[in-house]
Amino acid sequence: MFESISGRSVLVTGGTKGIGKGIAAGFANAGAQVVITGRDEASGEQAAEQLTAAAASMIPAGGKVSYLRGDVSDQASCAAVVEATVGKHGGLDVVCCNAGIFPASPLADMTPAELDDVLATNLKGTFFTVQAALPALTESGHGRIILTSSITGPITGYAGWSHYGASKAGQLGFMRSAALEFAKAGITINAVMPGNIITEGLGDLGADYLTSMEASIPLGRLGSVADIANAALFFASDEAGYITAQTLVVDGGQTVPESLQAMG
Ligand code: NAP
Repeated sequence: MFESISGRSVLVTGGTKGIGKGIAAGFANAGAQVVITGRDEASGEQAAEQLTAAAASMIPAGGKVSYLRGDVSDQASCAAVVEATVGKHGGLDVVCCNAGIFPASPLADMTPAELDDVLATNLKGTFFTVQAALPALTESGHGRIILTSSITGPITGYAGWSHYGASKAGQLGFMRSAALEFAKAGITINAVMPGNIITEGLGDLGADYLTSMEASIPLGRLGSVADIANAALFFASDEAGYITAQTLVVDGGQTVPESLQAMG
């Protein structure tokens, strides 16, 4: 169902690892030209090479993935990344605002710097990326913006992640007003809300965290990056062209039961 993705120009922030890398793989395998960003150049170059090789082995062959160094918390960097992507691909059709960080910090000890870091990357990074991409997405005629939000914040809470939850709920508030500002240009903006997805970042939270999470998921497993990529591809497809300002929870049912006992 993702035929319309072929040939599209796509930017995935934070596409060098985890969910973003999975989203980039999904788009490249479907024939898109993809730019991924992140701050660490070594992992970025390696990811681009690996994803391009994997896409080339698809039948029919997929698109190319390239890496550009970018820091979403820096407005000038976001503008430079968009300009370079447009220069490379001749335009920009899809922007995935995915870069995010999730360091734990209980409120009693949270420093202003810790709060600023999370909001600057997760929330202001979304603003800066979308603002920079707006002219090119308007030019595209079928611009698509896909946010990687979370269940944490918009639906659930987690002690130690109040700043993170606020940033992820903030993305959805941003989305609803942005959708109205962009609708006349035919640009849609939607958000995927992942549950617990196996990534490098999630792995850093430790084995106990992963085991207890798995036990609370009705479908019995943590999510894969491909599970999130499929949702992003859907929002980017022509078939989803009449959907804007909406959210799609991809969590294996995790937010449904009232308690572990409720899972039966
Ligand atoms: P991850 O494995 O830690 O990957 C994060 C990616 O973002 C990396 O490519 C990282 O590259 C990049 N990044 C971080 N800060 C950046 C910045 N300032 N500018 C540009 N790139 C930056 O994390 P993940 O688990 O895939 O999470 C990705 C997104 O999904 C985040 O928005 C997160 O909130 C959301 N999410 C994840 C889960 C989950 O279970 N994994 C659940 C819900 C939502 P560099 O470090 O090199 O910059």
